[in-house]
Amino acid sequence: MTVYNFCAGPAMLPVEVMKKAQKEFLDWQNLGVSVMEVSHRSAPYLEMAKQCEASLRRLMNISDEFEVLFMHGGGRGHFAAVPLNLHVDGVPGVYIENGIWSTGATKEGGKFTQTHAINIRTDENGQFDILPVSEWKLPENASFIHYCPNETIDGIEIFDVPKHSSAPIVADMSSNILSREINVNDFDLIYAGAQKNIGPSGLSIAIVRKTLLKREGLPRPAILDYAIEADQQSMYNTPPTFAWYLAFEVFKYLESIGGVKAMEAHNQEKAAILYDYIDGSGFYSNKVAKHCRSLMNVPFWLNDDSLNAKFLAEAEQNGLIALEGHRFVGGMRASIYNAMPIEGIKALVAFMDKFARENS
Ligand code: PMP
Repeated sequence: MTVYNFCAGPAMLPVEVMKKAQKEFLDWQNLGVSVMEVSHRSAPYLEMAKQCEASLRRLMNISDEFEVLFMHGGGRGHFAAVPLNLHVDGVPGVYIENGIWSTGATKEGGKFTQTHAINIRTDENGQFDILPVSEWKLPENASFIHYCPNETIDGIEIFDVPKHSSAPIVADMSSNILSREINVNDFDLIYAGAQKNIGPSGLSIAIVRKTLLKREGLPRPAILDYAIEADQQSMYNTPPTFAWYLAFEVFKYLESIGGVKAMEAHNQEKAAILYDYIDGSGFYSNKVAKHCRSLMNVPFWLNDDSLNAKFLAEAEQNGLIALEGHRFVGGMRASIYNAMPIEGIKALVAFMDKFARENS
């Protein structure tokens, strides 16, 4: 039986990449040892790191005005790194809030800097909605504007990018990086934990506008210092070498299938199949307003909550795993990142439909 893994992260990775990694697991580049066992400062590893960055730059069309950093600490590491690096004395960091992760970023930021939180979300008549970017009331004075374009738990995605006359725009793209085309120049700092669309956990990526590296910020650990990481080519200390290598394999794979543009079309198609089915089912519902539904994380609820355990057990028997919603919101969630094939979506919809007919 084919198993489809809908986990929100660590998430499934492209099977082609996993097979290649398996093949060269014990002998990387004919060195007779695993990539895990070589020095990050050895010539083959440094070459891999260079090629990896070049591949990501091509995929996202990242200009020389940005540094690309391969770091530790996951998404939450950047929750701390952002205020520590970007703080300006007496000027608040502005945090846009529309779900669990963006709110978590504010909370962490508040440990280090003055925060100004702006709620853009409304929950009315059982529907979750957000204000369009043009209606966000951003203050003039901000050391940065932080927001989360894809709320992994809430299933809310923001497709427009905010603008500000002076403050840098910071985006937590942990769960939607490489899922659709963006213009990196619209941002000043993009960060993401790797374990959804990039590779295994342990690695995070930051794409930082070089001019921001001159900010003094606050005293901070060197491993969270963007300027030090940039200066040291992300090798201030031992990086998560295996995760970095696997990220490169994912990037190469993505380039080989047509890049982010092709992936976006694929992701649109997948999400449309699932949302259309849910909306028309009369048995399940998704509570997010249509204009801000996530392409990556699809939360859904059974109209009859008492069937939840049965749904999850039968889904698992059918090879559809990790569909339980986050403990904060309940219900179900299908995370359908880049690596989820359309066959996985079709299998899920077929199962959901059968379950609905049998339990109505
Ligand atoms: N931001 C977002 C949008 C996330 O989805 C997550 C993790 N699911 C995090 C931040 C935290 O990431 P990590 O666990 O890598 O610290």
